[in-house]
This record gives sequence, C-alpha cells and structure tokens, in this order.
Amino acid sequence: MKIFKEIDLLLAYINGHNQNKSIGFVPTMGALHEGHLALVEKSIQENDLTVCSIFVNKIQFTFEEDFAKYPRTLEEDIKLLENIGCNCLFVPDQQTIYPEEYALKAYNLGEIEHVLEGLYRPGHFQGVCNVVNRLLDIIQPHQLYLGLKDYQQCKVIEKMTHLTSIDKRVELKFCETIRNHEGLALSSRNKRLSMNGLNKATALIKILNQAKERIITAEKEVDLTLLGQESTQEILENGFDSVDYFAFANENFELIHSISNNNQPLTILTAATIEGVRLIDNIKI
Ligand code: AMP
Repeated sequence: MKIFKEIDLLLAYINGHNQNKSIGFVPTMGALHEGHLALVEKSIQENDLTVCSIFVNKIQFTFEEDFAKYPRTLEEDIKLLENIGCNCLFVPDQQTIYPEEYALKAYNLGEIEHVLEGLYRPGHFQGVCNVVNRLLDIIQPHQLYLGLKDYQQCKVIEKMTHLTSIDKRVELKFCETIRNHEGLALSSRNKRLSMNGLNKATALIKILNQAKERIITAEKEVDLTLLGQESTQEILENGFDSVDYFAFANENFELIHSISNNNQPLTILTAATIEGVRLIDNIKI
C-alpha cells in the first residue's frame, strides 16, 4: 500500500498509475475497525483504485477535549488496510488540509444541521462538510463510501454534494452498519468501554428493534413522541447514564411525531451515554 502525507505526491500516484480508471474513496478518522474496513473492501470490489484517508478533523469537534482524546492508532491502521489490499492511504496533517490561506466554507444545510447530532454538537456538520469537500476536491474520486451508522452525516454529506454540484461527478455509496455478535454497532469509541459497559450497550440496538417492531405491527396510528419517551426510559433502565434523543425521521430527514401508515420509510435514531462514552445508532424501517 502506498502512503502519502502530501497532496502533490498523492496526485502524482493517482494520475500516473490509474488514468481513466475508477477511484473509490473512504474518508476516516482512523482507529479503524471492521466497520471502516467493510467500506474499504466494498470500494476495492467496485473500483480499480481505492484511496482511504485518515485525518482527525479538528474543526468537527465541538469540544477540544474530545479531539485530544480521539484514539490514534496509525501503525495498526496501516496493517489492517494492507491486509485487505487497500491501494493507497492519505494521511495529511492539519496544515495540508487547511493551509493558512484556505477559507472555510459555510454550507446552507437547512434544518438538518440543527437537529439531533447537530443540536448536541454545534458546528459539527459544517466541519464534516468542509473536510469531505476538501478531500473530494483533492482526490477527485468517482465513488465515495460512507457508513449508515452515521445516518444523519450521510444525509448531510448528500446535501453538501448537491449544494456544491459535486454530486455530478461523485456517486455516494451508503453502506450498512457493521455490528458485533450482540448487535452493538462497531465504533472507535467502544474501545473506551469496560466489558460490563460493552454488554450493557447492546441494549441500544435491542430497544431500537423493539420500537421498530411496535411500529410495524401497529394496527392504528402510533404516537412516536410517547414511543420515544418509553424507549428513552428503557435505555436508562438498562444502565445508560443519559439519552440525548430517541427520534424518528422520514426520508427527507424531517422529524416526525406520529405515524399512521406503517409502510412509510422511517429511520429511528438514538444517542446515549454510558461510562462517559456517547454512542449513536439507528435503524431503518
Ligand atoms: P469515522 O472514522 O468514525 O469518521 O468513520 C469513517 C467512516 O466509517 C464513516 O463513513 C462512518 O459512518 C463509517 N463507519 C463507522 N463505523 C461504522 C460501522 N460500524 N459500520 C459501517 N460504517 C461505519
């Protein structure tokens, strides 16, 4: 696997070896696990060249402390990527992505920026859009691979690509959430949980599935506000310290509070904290 820190060397490699070939791109912040690797593997299957990036993007962290604490495991990440046959890894530093003269962009993302994750992490999605936009401009891939584990992020990036017309040249590939045997969504943050915490954390997907079942089997209108409150209560009873939200969004990412037609596509999203670790998860109906 080729590893580049600098843009010009990366581009020389991409342009020199793979003209007219399809390029798949997987942006990450490192501390890689099977969830990330599934995206890279999918890209390898579907493209001539796969570029993965590892960049811990300071501007998407609302709190400085979270950025400092973010796990950095570059040596292990490189081995994992080499094992699955990733062609190329881009590991830029802050200066390379945001040089002094670089002007950050402000995207008109609308309501999605201010709800759920956006509400609890002000500025987060502007930071995400800036880094993804910048990386796409550098790498110029044909396909961009994103995990549905971060469903709101997928919708935000989709919007950013519309706003910038990047959608005309890059196809977005949303990939299923990879989970452990008990159903817990894999996350770099799981590494900070004790065994006990890991066991308890599986309640999140169980309660999401339970809510899904309640909606699918309902014979009349479901009060989603009430279902959200009951599910929140259950998450707390299962050992979580706090729940930021347990919410329901339609295809346009509008939050909905009741549903009468259980054929309507819907995503249930939650964020909750256990042992000081904030976890997010979602399922689609
Ligand atoms: P991150 O390094 O956390 O920014 O994640 C990089 C990419 O991996 C994002 O597109 C995430 O949605 C995706 N990802 C993270 N965890 C998972 C998972 N468990 N399953 C699938 N994709 C994931």
